[in-house]
Amino acid sequence: MTAERSFSDLPGDVLSKILKNAAENSVYDFLHLGQTCKGFCETARNEYIFATASLHNYSCMPRRIEMEKFLKRACIAGNPQALYREGMAKCFCVVNRDVDRGIQLLWEASERGVIEATYALGLQLICMEPRIWDGYRVLSTLDTICSKEGFDILMRCRHVTNRMIADIWITSRLEPPKRYSCSCVDNPSWCSYCMWNYEARSLAGVLERRNHVPLRM
Ligand SMILES: [Zn+2]
Repeated sequence: MTAERSFSDLPGDVLSKILKNAAENSVYDFLHLGQTCKGFCETARNEYIFATASLHNYSCMPRRIEMEKFLKRACIAGNPQALYREGMAKCFCVVNRDVDRGIQLLWEASERGVIEATYALGLQLICMEPRIWDGYRVLSTLDTICSKEGFDILMRCRHVTNRMIADIWITSRLEPPKRYSCSCVDNPSWCSYCMWNYEARSLAGVLERRNHVPLRM
């Protein structure tokens, strides 16, 4: 006769993987699973889950305390997508706005490979007169990526940025860079500076319009 087995008999890394998958789907799945047995309960404290869970189902403005707590722990654990979300909120939400902190978080997320963070960071910086050239330098890394992998990357950055901003209650405003004398013909697809200035104006427009449409629920 086979002895009864429970989830607690599974190796720790398997329990972690199950919990991580649950967290990626919903924080409630993660919390409920963590209450089902001792094994899950102990494994749910594992830093690895918070550091590596994909957060595509999470907004930068969590409306439930459980989500907020999960994102905070993920941020502390250095989860790049959590750093990105917190950075977006600090830069572009009027409530608790802290642009310096937001830039630092976006920078960390960018260095950990979150391309959308590089995009938002660069555009935020070129809209800050004293840091405009830092911004173009950051965005030049996206130029390189786009030239190798195509402009779908740029479309993805716009899409993810717009999705984050759609969840922000009251957005801040951006002041797009003034026109610097550029030797190019005014064609954004051929000049990096003009293209990123165009993107900054576009993002400023998204932020502006966000405050005139109802919050997405
Ligand atoms: Zn130009």
